[in-house]
Amino acid sequence: MALKGLDIFKLSPKKNCKECGSPTCMAFCMKVAQGAADISACPYFSEDAKAQLSEATAPPMKSIKIGTGAEEMVLGGETVMERHEKTFVNKTRYADSLCNCMDEATIEAKLAEVPKVDYDRIGERMYAELIYVNYSAEGSYDYVELVKKAAALGRTLVLGCTDVEVAKAALAVCKDSKPVLNGATPANYADMSAVATEAGVVLGVSGADMNEIYDTVKALEGLGNKNLVIDTTGATVKETFANTVQLRKAAIKDGDRTCGYPSIVNLVKVAKDDLHLQAALAAVFTIKYGSIVVMQEITYSEALPLYGLRQNIFTDPQKPMRVEPGIYALNGADENSICLTTVDFALTYFLVSGELERSGVPVNLIISDAGGLSVLTAWAAGKLSSSSIEKFWKEADIEGKIKNRKLIIPGKVAVLKGEIEAKLPGWEVIIAPREAVELVKFLKDMQAN
Ligand code: SF4
Repeated sequence: MALKGLDIFKLSPKKNCKECGSPTCMAFCMKVAQGAADISACPYFSEDAKAQLSEATAPPMKSIKIGTGAEEMVLGGETVMERHEKTFVNKTRYADSLCNCMDEATIEAKLAEVPKVDYDRIGERMYAELIYVNYSAEGSYDYVELVKKAAALGRTLVLGCTDVEVAKAALAVCKDSKPVLNGATPANYADMSAVATEAGVVLGVSGADMNEIYDTVKALEGLGNKNLVIDTTGATVKETFANTVQLRKAAIKDGDRTCGYPSIVNLVKVAKDDLHLQAALAAVFTIKYGSIVVMQEITYSEALPLYGLRQNIFTDPQKPMRVEPGIYALNGADENSICLTTVDFALTYFLVSGELERSGVPVNLIISDAGGLSVLTAWAAGKLSSSSIEKFWKEADIEGKIKNRKLIIPGKVAVLKGEIEAKLPGWEVIIAPREAVELVKFLKDMQAN
């Protein structure tokens, strides 16, 4: 919740010494409240006052880091309820799941399946970033062995284990990769917190309902552990949804810091064996506040729509999605392959490159800087013109890199053909169809002739 200048003034030293650059303490405090000055500019605030102020001015939801190296990721840190209010900042992470209650053949099959979903979409790697390793007291497979095998996949683990001794043994073999220990309950939170703190990992908190969870989080905070995530999974889908929304609302709208932690939603618990329902719910909880969403399996059927949705939700709506200008050699294109140019708007790139790849024809896709706008918008704004193409050709040294002198331009800006040929002597400009979907036939026909 935003602090008022007067609240800050009450904690100020009231020396009016001007060392902070403001004429009075009151003026300085007003600036701090507006975000125009930092509290550290005054050397006389007591440590206690600074601690109080940093707590009060901290973001409503904590940013929690998990994983290490290339697999390090941040959960939470959100400041709004709806994406269009500002932007969502830290995307939902999906976890494929394993359990020591599975038989060996199932475990081995799942371990072999996980790496298969791994692809790139508009510059972002799409894969199961997390593996949820569930512990069941009835399970016959050795849990620590399972954790070792899951860790060998190189993904960050979430250990779903409420048994303190088993959790300790599992962390001994994987703590360096900074997994999440999703194991604190009202019954074991103190011991589990000690285990998580000693291992330096994030602790997940669960309970029978939100009241229990709230009390447990409060108690953990009292023990000094604020490196937490909250498992909002309830007994039913409805309860899980209500818990997850309530948590976000309490943190963002009501400023209740005890609720200001990322969430875990375990779909395996609420929709076991119903893979279609899980896929639909994963989409719901991507939009509605799941920081980690656990699924029974993530194959291409689940991944393709889900990761596309996530990419759309977790982009800043105020910034156009762009790809880097440059030459993208598709289907094994080399310097002798034909060229096709379009704008740097990511969706245009994605559609066009997809169709080009589908054609199987080697093409150098040349993306110029068009301000992240679509073809017609860029043309209307003067960002896609014969001059912009000429300029880009020089900057990127296209003629030094490519020997082929045929250039396909978007059908919607066919009007540029003559101007481009005048500015790029020696190039033959060919007009593409107006729709990307027609590119496959167009290129194959060209190749045949
Ligand atoms: Fe007041 Fe601190 Fe500024 Fe001095 S430096 S005027 S004590 S706020």
